[in-house]
Amino acid sequence: MQTKICGIDEQSLALAKQLLLQGEAVAFPTETVYGLGADARSDEAVEHIYSVKGRPQDNPLIVHVHRDFDLSKLVADESSYAEKLRKAFLPGPLTLVYKSLGKVSAKVSCGLDTLAIRVPSHAGAQAFLKYVDLPVAAPSANISKHVSPVSAQHVFYDLQGKIPLILDGGACSGGIESTVCDVTGPYPVVLRQGLVSREMIEEVAGRCDVYVPKAGEQVRSPGMKYKHYAPKCKTCLYDSPEEALSVFEKYRAQGMRAYALCESKFARLFPDGFALDLGETAEDMAARLYALLRQGEQVADVIIAIRPAARDGVMAGVLNRLNKACAGE
Ligand code: AMP
Ligand code: MG
Repeated sequence: MQTKICGIDEQSLALAKQLLLQGEAVAFPTETVYGLGADARSDEAVEHIYSVKGRPQDNPLIVHVHRDFDLSKLVADESSYAEKLRKAFLPGPLTLVYKSLGKVSAKVSCGLDTLAIRVPSHAGAQAFLKYVDLPVAAPSANISKHVSPVSAQHVFYDLQGKIPLILDGGACSGGIESTVCDVTGPYPVVLRQGLVSREMIEEVAGRCDVYVPKAGEQVRSPGMKYKHYAPKCKTCLYDSPEEALSVFEKYRAQGMRAYALCESKFARLFPDGFALDLGETAEDMAARLYALLRQGEQVADVIIAIRPAARDGVMAGVLNRLNKACAGE
């Protein structure tokens, strides 16, 4: 199969809709990462997403809809705090997990009685979702366990020959996957951290916890148990910049192509051209992390990352991705 990359216009949107209705999967941009979308109502289309990505069959998908889509067609029992969160953050990088009405393929939620809903703010995503006017099941548009794609070229690198169309909306501005928040209980619980932080949710809802799986318990968000976001080269992660520098020098002395991945303030410790610079703020780091991991894996034998010291707000989501990407050592 030939994979076309097209800008987002009337012609490519019409093609995308036609492909979706035939059960195909189409990649599209969002403000977080690129998604791989298919018709959420169709068992075959949803199965096709899992097979294209090589995704484990028990890792549920998020359903994407446009901003005017009537959510009461898909989900039930919206509590008052959930309504507040929806009005405060959607469209935007927050996924809400509701009780499902069972109107989409059961394969979307892998048998769970809940449904994860996302309304992306990206203009290209909105144009696509509005044009097709369907619930679109979409995971990130990468091969399972590889780094999520933040440009059409990243999607092409992973999925060329496997999908017919990539809608190209340029580089994603957010850079890490949406925050996933369960709103089925008495107060919100964050299942995956992201650009809408726990603190931001708490401010609107009065309380917000972050889910930590207990030993032996069935994980509430199955995706959490998998290694993720990993580049193809060796990786390691240090809290101490000095230790990272000495490891960098050790690898270099062995003739290995070592690169550092760190905040701007530590980049200057490394020789020119050998630091992948994450920037200064948590938002910078979220926006750059995946592009740098993908750049790094092309040039490095080993990426030596330095873990930022901050722990709260958006940094919690950045650290979660960095830890998972560099879980090798
Ligand atoms: P991805 O598609 O790779 O962005 O991953 C989607 C994330 O959303 C995974 O971590 C899933 O476990 C989580 N997710 C999707 N649907 C549900 C659901 N119904 N309940 C809990 N978590 C969900
Ligand atoms: Mg993913």
